[in-house]
Amino acid sequence: MNRKYRKTVIAGNWKMNKTPSETKEFMTQLKAIMPKGRWCDVALCVPAVCIPAAVRAMRETRVGIGAENCNPNPSGAYTGEIATNMLTDAGCKYVIIGHSERRAMGETDADVNAKVLAALDAGLIPIMCCGESLEQRQNGVTAEWITMQIKLGLKDVPEDKIRKVIIAYEPIWAIGTGLTATPEQAEEVCEMIRSVVRKLYSSKNARAISILYGGSMNEKNAFELLAQPDIDGGLIGGASLVPEKFVKIIEAANQPTV
Ligand code: PEP
Repeated sequence: MNRKYRKTVIAGNWKMNKTPSETKEFMTQLKAIMPKGRWCDVALCVPAVCIPAAVRAMRETRVGIGAENCNPNPSGAYTGEIATNMLTDAGCKYVIIGHSERRAMGETDADVNAKVLAALDAGLIPIMCCGESLEQRQNGVTAEWITMQIKLGLKDVPEDKIRKVIIAYEPIWAIGTGLTATPEQAEEVCEMIRSVVRKLYSSKNARAISILYGGSMNEKNAFELLAQPDIDGGLIGGASLVPEKFVKIIEAANQPTV
């Protein structure tokens, strides 16, 4: 982390977990134990039907609510889809885009790019995910793969909007598996992502953008991962479903930075 130049962000990704009633219960518990300091931004990205309950519960708090996906079109015949203006109207601040679980369902880099552009236009903060498979890592193409995902995902994002984008590096082999990238492995890729942003935009923009790590981050390993200079927070799946664990990760963000 480097709080001097950029925001630290701890974001939860609930995936397809919790009902609206369970959301209300979770938020009540979280509010009771939420750390008082304001050392990082906190986001919870929840299933679409849980958004109203989450927004209502966290209205007077510093926790921003987000969605887990969006459709890039403004409206129309897209049964089952949700447009970005629907999310902002419902009170969302963030939206996860290009999670590997959605890419596995067929989402392409072009889809990710269209969603990032639509989210920015609507005033949402996109949390754009990238990450390599185990096979790609073993074949030594991690840097090339991630560079391609970043370049295609950020295509046509204007210079004055790039700082609004949060990038989440999530090695697929570490998501939901209990296998965490070592702090060194995670730092190496996050640093590389920053250098791609530097080449695409500028040093100032690269220094200002928040890059998160995701992949089995939990209350035990968060401190060490967040101590890395280019890891500005976490995108957390499993551990964001338990208020006590999520709070411990937020607390790990309160450590001295470079
Ligand atoms: C995720 O879904 O983005 C994620 C990182 O999951 P987990 O923390 O459970 O590995």
